[in-house]
Amino acid sequence: MTEPADQAATWRRSEAVVPRGVSSGHRVGWKQVFVRTQGAYIWDQEGRQYVDYLNAWGPIVLGHSDRRVNEAVLTAANTCDLTGVGPQAGEAELAERICAVMPSADKVAFCTSGTDATMHAVHVARAATGRLKILKFHGSYHGWNDHVAVGSSRKDLTEGSALNTPNGGGLHPAVVADVVVVEWNDAAGLRAAFDQHGAELAAAFTEGYVHSFGCVPAAPGFLELLRELCTAHGVVMVMDEVKTGFRAAIGGYQSICGVTPDLTAFGKAVANGYSLAGLAGIDALMGHLGAYSKTEATIDGTYNASPYALAAANKTMQIMESDDIFTTLYARGEQMRTGIADAIAETGAPATVTGLGSEWCVYFRPELPTNFREAMQSDAEMYGRYHASLLSQGVLEPAFPTGDRRLNAATTEADVATTIECVRVALRAAVS
Ligand code: PLP
Repeated sequence: MTEPADQAATWRRSEAVVPRGVSSGHRVGWKQVFVRTQGAYIWDQEGRQYVDYLNAWGPIVLGHSDRRVNEAVLTAANTCDLTGVGPQAGEAELAERICAVMPSADKVAFCTSGTDATMHAVHVARAATGRLKILKFHGSYHGWNDHVAVGSSRKDLTEGSALNTPNGGGLHPAVVADVVVVEWNDAAGLRAAFDQHGAELAAAFTEGYVHSFGCVPAAPGFLELLRELCTAHGVVMVMDEVKTGFRAAIGGYQSICGVTPDLTAFGKAVANGYSLAGLAGIDALMGHLGAYSKTEATIDGTYNASPYALAAANKTMQIMESDDIFTTLYARGEQMRTGIADAIAETGAPATVTGLGSEWCVYFRPELPTNFREAMQSDAEMYGRYHASLLSQGVLEPAFPTGDRRLNAATTEADVATTIECVRVALRAAVS
């Protein structure tokens, strides 16, 4: 079959055989089809170059198509590929690396996606405590397993509406009865939830630094309060570091904030784009991850700890350390946020910018949000014009107002300076 002549034709071809043309929800709504990646850049089928601040929603941290990582993968594939028996090549090495840097990691088990990792966290917590209920925060996304795909729908944010509704169709409606959803940064609400449900809670899920609705840090003391309540009520504290792990810091956000969870779900940046994720945790809990027992949680997956993904992750972590990429990521991120803040002040746009390390978010509202409802008040029409202007200038960012954006370590000072000029133009377009 000949290649479609243009992007529209490629979309039509895909839509004919793949539902909505894509296999992941956030990939719809674009005209572009990307066909080449390198370093900080990405090229569409019609040859246009963009500086990439989406970075596949998180995984690309060193830079696109990193040759060092790809060579490690190829070597692994050509030496001993997936065997399905015993420890896989590179598995213990990667677990040792993670245990050495992540405060909550005594042991690590590997899977293939963040959704898998959070599902295993639920199972381990339930097996360990003998309880069923899960607490999570409103708006926080933890993947698509039924147990946690609750209370983060962008569709119903009416004041007073129930928080614990399933995020989409096909999810088991009965599960929501066992999910307690609390507003992020609501300390009184959190205390009340533990007072009411503490004895029935198996786990409390939290992002250390929220990226599910942009960039919204915990208020001072909030994570510490969650830790304290979990300990007091015998509840497993799960930190979802799928976005922050290996990006905010090599040891995850927990190594920055000083609050150590019992279990950590991670994925994305650990393998610079290869599909590796995992669950890390304290010995006492990871011991509940047995194979095929009626009482212990099971981890089982044909592609878990595939030697290709392990090789990618071992190489990525090695480069993170040898090249001190976090100094670069933080410097460029700071340059970006400061430049955008100046551009906002200069243009008078009713916007704010915030973020951490290599990530940032521009909200079209005068004040920074502290929770999901406030974040969702970012003006979607202004954001639409802002986004369209940036795209036309060759800057690729998420297409919805609460999308967090991030740069990778191949992004140069000059790339950021050019982007800030594009932002100036886009802010004017947003308010026009
Ligand atoms: N947890 C968080 C915080 C995420 O941002 C995501 C994905 O964006 C997930 C879990 C699910 O990860 P995956 O898409 O690898 O299943």
